[in-house]
Amino acid sequence: MVTTIRNADEKINIDRLVTRDVPLAPLSTYGTGGSADFLASPRDLAQLRAVIRWAAGKQLPVTVLAGGSNVLISDDGVEGLVISTGNLNAHHVRGCIFCAQSGLMLDTAINVAIEHSLSGLEPLGGLPGSVGGAVWGNAGSGGLWISELIEWVDYLDEEGELVRFQGMDNGFSYKRSPFMGKNWILFEIAFRLTPNKNTSDARLRKEQSRSSRLESGQFDYPSAGCVFKNPRGISAGKLIDDAGLKGFSVGGAAVSEHHANFIVRTSGEATSSDIYELSTIIAHEVKRKYQTDLEREIILIGRWNR
Ligand SMILES: Cc1cc2nc3c(=O)[nH]c(=O)nc-3n(C[C@H](O)[C@H](O)[C@H](O)COP(=O)(O)OP(=O)(O)OC[C@H]3O[C@@H](n4cnc5c(N)ncnc54)[C@H](O)[C@@H]3O)c2cc1C
Repeated sequence: MVTTIRNADEKINIDRLVTRDVPLAPLSTYGTGGSADFLASPRDLAQLRAVIRWAAGKQLPVTVLAGGSNVLISDDGVEGLVISTGNLNAHHVRGCIFCAQSGLMLDTAINVAIEHSLSGLEPLGGLPGSVGGAVWGNAGSGGLWISELIEWVDYLDEEGELVRFQGMDNGFSYKRSPFMGKNWILFEIAFRLTPNKNTSDARLRKEQSRSSRLESGQFDYPSAGCVFKNPRGISAGKLIDDAGLKGFSVGGAAVSEHHANFIVRTSGEATSSDIYELSTIIAHEVKRKYQTDLEREIILIGRWNR
């Protein structure tokens, strides 16, 4: 049945936007996990609102999936509607303010900012994922937390209303943002950047960040980056390494030989359950040996019995 929603004088055909039973593994860097009951990849605010309201009308839960570089998708799939933000990638520059829709890939955003002679984001060069995912999780690298550069965030609330969030001092901390634990969808983020005519220097800095990731083996195997947050004042990777867990494996998932806080997929047969089970063993071992609790950084999405 064709469901047509009138939104901003535009008729939106929901049946063209929403697809049933879509495998999600290709949308995550681990390349594991089951299917979405429904998937939509809206291209603009009107389409995003329309799919949110469609899901609300059917009382379906909504899950946002962006670059898929910090998630572990259940092998049993994801209930309700998954919104992929990949097509929400428009951007514009006004003075020192760089506005990017949430699905724009971070690496592309850095390049665009540099083309406009704007600097600041370069330490995040090579960080996989989208602008929205980075803001949601307050991603950081090379001494910079992305929250340090945010001017405002426009998000859609549960009712599909567009709300502006300002006052960045509130709610951001290590790997935390005020958007966690809410059913909000980040739509557009404005960054305040620094004018810099020396674009070749900025490009070089960005490339150095990217190549140091490549050289340290971060992309040798599929992963979702650090599995655990660092407990206060301690490196989770060091604890895992000291516990003798480097190389330890479950099924097709193993603790990375390069970086003990990465669980890598070493075989195409690996499942999300292998990765989850290995993370549970790691947390248990670190607790047993060092009486330290490790909190997962990667986000479990879908049907997990936890
Ligand atoms: C090799 C590798 C290296 C990494 N290095 C780093 C690093 O140095 N520093 C670091 O901080 N992280 C790192 N990561 C982790 C990851 O890349 C970041 O956390 C990234 O910012 C996640 O963005 P994403 O678009 O992939 O989000 P996803 O993985 O798709 O989503 C992550 C969470 O954000 C939510 N989300 C995403 N977009 C939106 C939105 N528009 N609205 C509402 N919620 C949203 C999702 O629902 C989910 O809960 C690394 C990952 C890999 C694979």
